[in-house]
Amino acid sequence: MALINEHYLKLSKNYLFADIAKKVNAFKVSHPKSDVISLGIGDVTRPLCPAVIEAMHKAVDDMSVKERFHGYGPEQGYLFLREAIVKHDFLSRGIHLDPSEIFVNDGAKSDTGNIGELVRWDNSIGVTDPIYPVYIDSNVMCGRAGSQTDGKWSNVTYMPCSEENGFVPQIPDRRVDIIYLCYPNNPTGTVISKEELKKWVNYALKNDTLIFYDAAYEAYIQDDDIPHSIYEIKGAKKVAIEFHSYSKTAGFTGVRCGYTVVPKELTAVTLDGKQRVPLNPMWDRRQCTKFNGTSYISQRAAEAIYTPEGKQQVRETIQYYMDNARMMRDTLIRLGLKVYGGENAPYLWVKTPGGTDSWKFFEQMLYGAQVVCTPGVGFGPSGEGFVRLTSFGNHEDCERALSRISTWMKG
Ligand SMILES: *Cc1c(COP(=O)(O)O)cnc(C)c1O
Repeated sequence: MALINEHYLKLSKNYLFADIAKKVNAFKVSHPKSDVISLGIGDVTRPLCPAVIEAMHKAVDDMSVKERFHGYGPEQGYLFLREAIVKHDFLSRGIHLDPSEIFVNDGAKSDTGNIGELVRWDNSIGVTDPIYPVYIDSNVMCGRAGSQTDGKWSNVTYMPCSEENGFVPQIPDRRVDIIYLCYPNNPTGTVISKEELKKWVNYALKNDTLIFYDAAYEAYIQDDDIPHSIYEIKGAKKVAIEFHSYSKTAGFTGVRCGYTVVPKELTAVTLDGKQRVPLNPMWDRRQCTKFNGTSYISQRAAEAIYTPEGKQQVRETIQYYMDNARMMRDTLIRLGLKVYGGENAPYLWVKTPGGTDSWKFFEQMLYGAQVVCTPGVGFGPSGEGFVRLTSFGNHEDCERALSRISTWMKG
């Protein structure tokens, strides 16, 4: 008799985007002539840049001839890409990594979800609230999150990100074994300064805590003094694993490629406390067993964003989204709304006026302006009273949406 993993039964149904779609459809049915614009999309919309397309075409041609055909590649990723990553994403910031510390993957969701296999099921975890749901759900699946009461998991320390603390969570006053951080942040669009990040690294060094650092949005950072990588902080290689993705950086959501950094210096301890074990060979072993690499074509595509043309083109697309973000911020602030984020990230975290709850404001804006946002409470209890807007849309749509919001709010 096969018995199921009952932890799956504890998962709360994440209906956020399905619920939004249902409400939008209901509106469309009763307003058939309406033209709804979404500022809620969490996916990129601009096409891949020419340098990437050219590299992909070339890679396809490679596959058509015997001499350049590529079958299974190295599970860790091709060296050409890992060397480009080391040089352009890290060495340029004074961080020295070896290609063997880079693991190319099919996107950051897989690895942020799977990395927990390296650590015992009974470690305690700490997450920021609101949060990217993968961090919690993947821990629920293996039983690490504990049991749920009043929407909170017994083995999870929630670190609220609020207006009061500038969306930088307070360091826990007790020991937590594993901490998830994501900066620039989804959903709040806020960033962490070097000084604040240093506090986390020092906490981790002192408490033997492991940090899982999600840097999926680092390419959106505009201010020079905001860290792009946790390894910009001294000692971080001893305590942190970092996740990168080409999804938001270069529009690879449909191509699938990213990478995880597991430094050689990073260790964790055995239950009896007698042995410190490096995590790099463990992750290597895990990948070689369960992962057979990202396609050659995707990896050649990723390599192309490190060429001078690729860098320039990727920067232009990011600028396109960040121009949207600036326009959205300016307009909404002028309308008297409190707006966070949107300066170093493609997300704006907007406080609902007059303490309206997230879902209520979502409906008000849908019916009043035919504009869709994402209710903040969908990302965790501390998201209540906020909505998330994204700048991933078309520029003209963004302008039209803002003009409608203006008319609606002034009316
Ligand atoms: C979009 C996103 C990712 C990237 O996911 P991929 O699997 O690489 O497409 C990772 N983390 C966060 C917080 C994200 O929003």
